[in-house]
Amino acid sequence: MSEVQSDSRAKLIFDPEELDYDFGPEHPLQPQRIAALLDLLETCELWDSSNANSSLPLRTATSEELSLVHTSDYISAVQTLGAVGKVERLDSEHLQLAMKYGFAEGDTPVLPRMHEVSARIAGGSLAALHAVMGISDNGTIVPSDERPLHVFHPAGGLHHAWAERASGFCIYNDISVAIASVLRASEAKMLYIDFDAHHGDGVQRSFYDEPRVMTVSIHETGRYLFPGTGDVLEMGNGLGRGYSINVPLEPFTEDDSYIEAIDLLLSPLVLSFAPDLIVTQHGCDTHAWDPLTHLSLTMRGIREQIKLAHQLAHSYCQGRWVALGGGGYDLYRVVPRAWSMVWAEMSEQTLPGELPDEWVNRWRPVWSKVEEQEGIFLRTFLPSLAGGLLPVQIVIRWRWYVTLFYLLRYDRHFPRLDVIRL
Ligand SMILES: [Zn+2]
Ligand SMILES: [Zn+2]
Repeated sequence: MSEVQSDSRAKLIFDPEELDYDFGPEHPLQPQRIAALLDLLETCELWDSSNANSSLPLRTATSEELSLVHTSDYISAVQTLGAVGKVERLDSEHLQLAMKYGFAEGDTPVLPRMHEVSARIAGGSLAALHAVMGISDNGTIVPSDERPLHVFHPAGGLHHAWAERASGFCIYNDISVAIASVLRASEAKMLYIDFDAHHGDGVQRSFYDEPRVMTVSIHETGRYLFPGTGDVLEMGNGLGRGYSINVPLEPFTEDDSYIEAIDLLLSPLVLSFAPDLIVTQHGCDTHAWDPLTHLSLTMRGIREQIKLAHQLAHSYCQGRWVALGGGGYDLYRVVPRAWSMVWAEMSEQTLPGELPDEWVNRWRPVWSKVEEQEGIFLRTFLPSLAGGLLPVQIVIRWRWYVTLFYLLRYDRHFPRLDVIRL
C-alpha cells in the first residue's frame, strides 16, 4: 500500500474488540458495518491501519469514569449479566435484573462480556475527546501543536443509554461519559450535535441542567420513531434551560429541506454558545435506504452535514472536532460510504468517484445475503397481506404496519421548516 496522504492532525480510533459489540445475526446493529468501512478506507488508500500516524489508541473506560454518568447499580448489573452472557442462560434472579435495567425488551439483549466491550467503546470516545482537548491520563496538559485537531471514532455514538438503563441498542453512553470526563477535567464548554435519525435522548438527559454542554439533536419526529422524545419544547432545565435544542423533522424529509434546516440553525447556535469543542454523532440512519427510519436523505445531505461540522469547528473552535458513528442499518450500501466521507472530510482527502471493484467483490456476497433474507420476508409477507393475517404475523411485523399506517394517513403536508421559525 502506498503512503497514506492524510492530514496527520486527523486521527481515527478503532480497536478490534469493538467488533464484539454484537447482539447476534438477527439484530439490526451489525459490527460488520465497521469492518466494511475500514476495509473501504484501506482499499481506497485513505487510511492505513498499520500507520500509527493516522490512528489513536484507546483504553478501557474505568468504572469510576463510567460512574460520571451511570449509576453504580447499573454498572454492576451490566457486569453481572455480561458474565452470564445470554438471555437463555439467565435464571429468574438474573432475569429480574435484566428487566430492571432494560435488557429484557428485545432491542438491547444481554451480550457476552458486555461490560468489558462497552467500556472499551466508551474509552474510545473518551480518548478522542481527551486527545483533542489535550488532557493526558496523568493530568498534565498536552501542548496544542502536539494534539490531534480532529478525531473520528466510528464505533462510538451510543446515544440512547440512560444513567440507569440500557436502551435502543446502547449499553454505556460513550458520548456522555466522554463529555462528562472533559467537564470534570477542564473548564471547557462543549457543543454536541446529534445527526442520527433517532433523538439523542440519552445525551440530552445527561446534561439537561448543565449550561456548559449544549446538545442539539436533528432527528425524525418522535411521533413515529423511537424513542418518542425530542420535541422542540424540551429545552433544558434550571441553569441548563436553553441549552437543549431539538429539531424534529417530518418523515420523508429530503436533502434540500435538511440542508436548509442545518444551515439556518447551526451557525448562529455555535456563534452564540462559543464552545471549545464540537462533538458530532453521524448516525446515517437518516438515509432513504435505512430500513428502520423514514427520512429520505441521500449521500448529498449527509455530505453537507459532515462538511458543515468541519467548517463550524474551524470557524468557531480552532478546529477542535470529534466525530462519532451511531445508527445506520443499511449495513453495506450506506454505512461504509457515509462514514468514509467523515474520514475523508476531516483528513482532507478526496474520495474516489466510484467504489473500488475489489471492495465491492469482497462485500457483495455479504450484502446479497442480507437482500436474500429481505426477499424471503417480502415473499412471505405480501401473500399474507392479501390472504388474511395471523395474529402472530401482526406481532412479528409490527414495524411494517406502523409504516403502512403512517403512509395511509399522511396528508402531503410538509411543515418542514416550521420548527425553525418558532
Ligand atoms: Zn438512530
Ligand atoms: Zn480540518
